[in-house]
Amino acid sequence: MGAKRRKEPFPNHRLTFIDFSMLANIIEQIERVLLHMEPQHSVAFLNLSPQWAIEKMQRARFQRTLRLAAERSTFYCEEFKRRGINPRRIEHPSELGDFYTTGEDLRSHGAEAFLTGHADTAFETTGTTSPVPKRVFFSIAELLEMGRASAIGLYHLGMRREDRVLSAYDCSFWVSPAVLRMGLQYLKCFHVEAGKISPPEFYARACHYKPNVIFGEPSWIVRFSELARERGTWPMKLLFGGGENISEQARDAVEQVWGAPLYLSYGQTESFGTLGAECERKDGYHRNDLFFYFETPEVDSEGYGELVYTTLARDVMPLIRYRSTDLTALVEEPCPCGLFARRIAKIRARTDEMVVCGMGNVGPWVFAELLRGVNDHGADWQAVVKHDGGKDVVELCLELNDAGHQSEVEQAVLVSLRERFTDFWKNYEMKLHDFRVVACEPGSLRNGRKLKLVVDQRQMGRGARSEG
Ligand SMILES: [Zn+2]
Repeated sequence: MGAKRRKEPFPNHRLTFIDFSMLANIIEQIERVLLHMEPQHSVAFLNLSPQWAIEKMQRARFQRTLRLAAERSTFYCEEFKRRGINPRRIEHPSELGDFYTTGEDLRSHGAEAFLTGHADTAFETTGTTSPVPKRVFFSIAELLEMGRASAIGLYHLGMRREDRVLSAYDCSFWVSPAVLRMGLQYLKCFHVEAGKISPPEFYARACHYKPNVIFGEPSWIVRFSELARERGTWPMKLLFGGGENISEQARDAVEQVWGAPLYLSYGQTESFGTLGAECERKDGYHRNDLFFYFETPEVDSEGYGELVYTTLARDVMPLIRYRSTDLTALVEEPCPCGLFARRIAKIRARTDEMVVCGMGNVGPWVFAELLRGVNDHGADWQAVVKHDGGKDVVELCLELNDAGHQSEVEQAVLVSLRERFTDFWKNYEMKLHDFRVVACEPGSLRNGRKLKLVVDQRQMGRGARSEG
């Protein structure tokens, strides 16, 4: 097998006279029971749980997940065999050395190669570094468990039964609205799903429900709040954003309009939605250590590295050491808010070239596809994402022989956008972002060997990202 290095092994505790697996079983039963409690009781109980108890449970769940993957998933079975990894000898993720699962593995092998049980439903990531979507399968039981965990987080943010929720989450193949629906079922809130409709239509129809909690993608919430500033607001308890980044400046603007906080969650479709969510301090995301084992195997001098996670509570499609491609740090110091869960620092960047912005999740392939069949420009191009006037601006820089053709080329690219990327076009029409073609001198874009195709120039203070 790979390296045998053990990084931060689960500490052995002095309770050596008790069989560890038995203890872990007891702890897991307790955890299952407390997740069935009302959220306020679970939060109180989990806050009292010692850290070692959570670590014991993680170890037991990790070993069970690893064996399940090795026995039933063709991908893991073959990979472990090829690398000489014996799952029964592995007690901690770091003992897997340089073994990781990547998004490319999911795409090239297909979700079926990862299945270990009967799936009830599936979700997809929308837009990645490749046009091939990643598909992830789940059971209804897993959906319920994730909903319970979300309910605990939302309860901690102050949501209660009397709240009235309106959601603008996009229901098309996206995992977040499904998890939210389950979570609200435990909180027993009144809940209406609008889907991702245009902010003016949402505004007009929201009046009938008078929601005091609104869920949506951050760029959509920004646009909706601008509209509300012009047309009038009503009392709001909180707004909650998932699915993409937001600048602190944009967050402040939203909070000023409503006189209420905007909280963010961080997650990926592969993780089944939420990996972590903000508390009222908005200083990083409280992570879900009950369902995931988080690592940052290679860190810089400031402790930042790519976030890697292993699922601990999934029976249908477990993922072992999945590379998130997000750069962050694990924060072990307790948060002043008092919640038991440790944190993930604000996401600094992506490790690949994909950019999450008001247009959607865009990578180099998106722009290459937009330019397919469009004439009058050079071979080199570069997409620059900026932030201006409260919204993201995507500038596609093209080398044109005649700058006078700029508007013609822009029109042709917009036709491609409308015809080939329905979701991105919808966001453009809703004015969630601006899109323009910028004319450049021939030969001016490439000043090195490799041209960076997508450049994110936004100054991000804090932010969340999730795919799907
Ligand atoms: Zn906190």
